[in-house]
Order: sequence, then structure tokens, then C-alpha cells
Amino acid sequence: MPEEKKNDVMEKIVSLCKRRGFVFQGSEIYGGLSGVYDYGPMGVELRNNIKQYFWDTFVINREDVYGLSAAILMPETVWEASGHVGKLGLVDPIVECKICHERVRADQPEAIADHEATHKGKKVEWSEPKVFNLLVETKLGASEDTATRVNLRGEITQGIHVNFKNILDSMHPKIPFGIGQIGKAFRNEITPRDFLFRQREFEQMEVQYYIKPDEEEGLIQFEYWKNLAMEWYLGLGFRKESLRFRQHASDERAHYAKDAWDIEYNTPFAGWKEAWGIHHRGDWDLKRHSEYSKVDLSYYDEESKSRFIPWDIECSGGVDRAFLFVLLEAYTEDKLGDDLRTYLKLSPKIAPVKIAVFPLLKNKEILVEKAREVYKLLKKKFGAVVFDDNGNIGKRYRRQDEIGTPWCVTVDFETVEKDAGVTVRDRDTGEQKRMSIEELVSYVKSQLS
Ligand code: ATP
Repeated sequence: MPEEKKNDVMEKIVSLCKRRGFVFQGSEIYGGLSGVYDYGPMGVELRNNIKQYFWDTFVINREDVYGLSAAILMPETVWEASGHVGKLGLVDPIVECKICHERVRADQPEAIADHEATHKGKKVEWSEPKVFNLLVETKLGASEDTATRVNLRGEITQGIHVNFKNILDSMHPKIPFGIGQIGKAFRNEITPRDFLFRQREFEQMEVQYYIKPDEEEGLIQFEYWKNLAMEWYLGLGFRKESLRFRQHASDERAHYAKDAWDIEYNTPFAGWKEAWGIHHRGDWDLKRHSEYSKVDLSYYDEESKSRFIPWDIECSGGVDRAFLFVLLEAYTEDKLGDDLRTYLKLSPKIAPVKIAVFPLLKNKEILVEKAREVYKLLKKKFGAVVFDDNGNIGKRYRRQDEIGTPWCVTVDFETVEKDAGVTVRDRDTGEQKRMSIEELVSYVKSQLS
């Protein structure tokens, strides 16, 4: 990201998100809930488009990945098996400030630095790190005595592993194969921060890919999923230099992980930050769930006539982080004389609105009627098309620029009187071209595929 964009871009994104209906603070009229956000009309479309792109690439367009939508509520034993509850070290370390007793994640230097800054130069001493279980707990049942303690899942991963046998028995997959899922996860983050980056309720998208327990196969598959995840991320419209791979140091990895890499985005608020994780989890999860559930989660391989617990390559990303990073990457300001033009350079594939249709003048019935006709036709073809006759053309362009609409189509007198097509204005160059409706349709189709 160019230096001049870095300084206040996050603040501008937060404000644009509210102003244009992308993201609102959760339960805002009641004072807001920290680390929780609601997605507005533009946000929900952008988010759905990101998720659909994930689902197409990782599930629908493949023969070896099965889709799943597991429940959010899971019994506590699942989390004991996975190591999230107990003493296995899959919990986050926290430290307490000795001045004000506020708790902060010990493994987040920026959270520590921010907190120390609030004490304005006073020397801050911290307690020894303690482990903190991030799972959100609740109870199910009519009375206190009979209630069962359950957790809102802290990651969608375990919903996949606990359904491993169901997928084997219903789909009879041949190894290697994967299970893909998109869904909400909940973490009682002590210091939710940086807008959508660290939330308490968020969404993940991932594939757990099961392979033969073989070192070489592990290396090949790991490389494959790492590269696919990067290719997918770049496909969201990122420049190559905005993303990088980073391998976890051995003391940073969960103790069961054979290898772990992140895809990181160069954020304007804190430099390189995790967007996606690719982890070689070995047989850890299936083995632990076999032990705890007492259900055999091994796989019988017809080819080698042998039975084994498969190894698992995990490919896991955050929907909300992808959403935030896409906005940060797309946010652009162009100086036009004294004016500043702000627009989101979103890939047309994920833009919440593809085309906006305007009548040149709102009080000329003949133009409005024709524009409505064009709008209906385009809406039938592309769905995400809006009609706008509010304010002058300049204002309409500004509105569409800020939500990243790639094309604005204007119906004018020449359209009506000379059957001369419409003018199509390109969001990024501002250039206007006259095209027939047929030309426009095939042009937009080519850009969306
Ligand atoms: P971090 O180190 O940033 O807390 P993590 O390593 O705990 O992340 P994973 O458990 O690997 O994250 O989760 C997979 C993905 O889920 C992450 O790459 C990230 O995109 C997303 N994610 C994790 N925690 C959050 C959160 N609190 N808010 C939003 N997205 C999150």
C-alpha cells in the first residue's frame, strides 16, 4: 500500500462502511457491543460474494471436497478432545496490567503498546502470563440442575472432524478428500480491536483435507493447498505485493502441528497480519475424537488394503478479515483539481452492485421510462443492478463510486430519440463510452466471468 494511503485509511473505511451501509456496530442504538458487528445491505452482498467465490473454488468446482454446515452449539467434550479446554496449550496467554488491572493478550505486542500508551509515560508492570479459555459458554436445558453446559464453537474445524464418519458412511469418498464449510465462530477475545480484524463473533471458511499418513504425500498436499489459498486470495483483487506467506516458527505452532504457514496482508494499521492459515494437523484431531467419543474414526483404504487414521491438511480463512482487507486494498482517492474522488476499486466479481442505471434527468418522464426499461432488463440478467434518480448525475456517480459499482449506465435523449444506446461510465478511469444494450450485456458478462 502506498505510504500516503496508510495513515488514516482505517478510519476512513470505518466511516465509509457506516455511511454507505456496509457495516454497523452491533446493537448500536443500545450503546454497541464491543467486538460485534452487523452487516448492512452493501456489506451482506459483498460478504456473500466472497463466500460464494470460496464455495465455488474450494467445494462446488471440485470432485474431492464435500460441503457441510455443522451446528454452532457443541458439547464441552468436543473442546476437551480438541485441546481448547484443559491444559494442552491451545488457549491464549493473557497478562494483567498492575496499575489498572485490565487484561490484554500477551502475544499481541500492539495491544500491549496501546494499553501502555493509555498510562501516558508511566512505567507499566505486567503480571506473569496466564492461560485464558476463549470459548463462549452457555447452557441448554429447562432448569439449573438439568442444564447441560455447551460451547459456541471457537472454530468451525471441529464441526468438520466430528462429522468425518458421517461423510465416510454417506458419501463413500476415496482418500484423499476434503470437507469444506463456511460458518460462524465465537471467541471471547479479551481485546477485540481493529474493526473487523479481531471480533468476538466472526465467520470462517475452510477445508479440512484428509490424506494418507505419508510424509511425502503430506509435503505435496501442503504445498498444493498453500498455493491454492494464495491464488484464491489474489483472485479477490489483491496486488501481489500486498500479500505474503509466512511460516510459523516452531515455538509458535500448536504442539501437534507438523507445519504451519499464514497468508498475511500488509495492513495500514499494524503491518503484516494473518488473513489465512494453512496447517498440517497430522492425525491429531481424528485420533483425539476417536479417543474421546469412543467411535472408530479410521479409514479403510481399498487400494492398499490397510486401515489408518488419515492426516489432515487444514486450509482456513476468516470471512470478515477477507472483507476488511478487500476494502483496505480497494480504497482509492484521486485528486481532481481541488476535488477528491473516493472510490472502491473492487473486483467486479465481488462488488455488491454491478451496474447502476440513471435517467439523465429525473423529471423527464420519457427518460425515466426508458431508464426503468433498461434497468429491468439488466436486473434480469445480472441481479445486482440498481436504479438511481436521486440528485444530480455527479452525486449519483459519487455514491456508486463509494460502494465500488464498476459501471454506471445513463439513459439520455439520444438513447430515446436516436436509439443510440446508453453511456457507460467506467468506475476506475471515469471514461464514458456509448454502447448498445447488447454490447453492454456481453461486455459485463465477459468482465464477471
Ligand atoms: P490470531 O492469531 O489472529 O488470533 P488465529 O491463528 O487464532 O488468529 P485461526 O484459529 O487459525 O486464527 O483461525 C483461522 C482464521 O480465522 C484466521 O486466519 C482469521 O482470518 C480468522 N479469525 C480468527 N480469529 C478471528 C477473530 N477474532 N476475528 C475475526 N477473524 C478471526
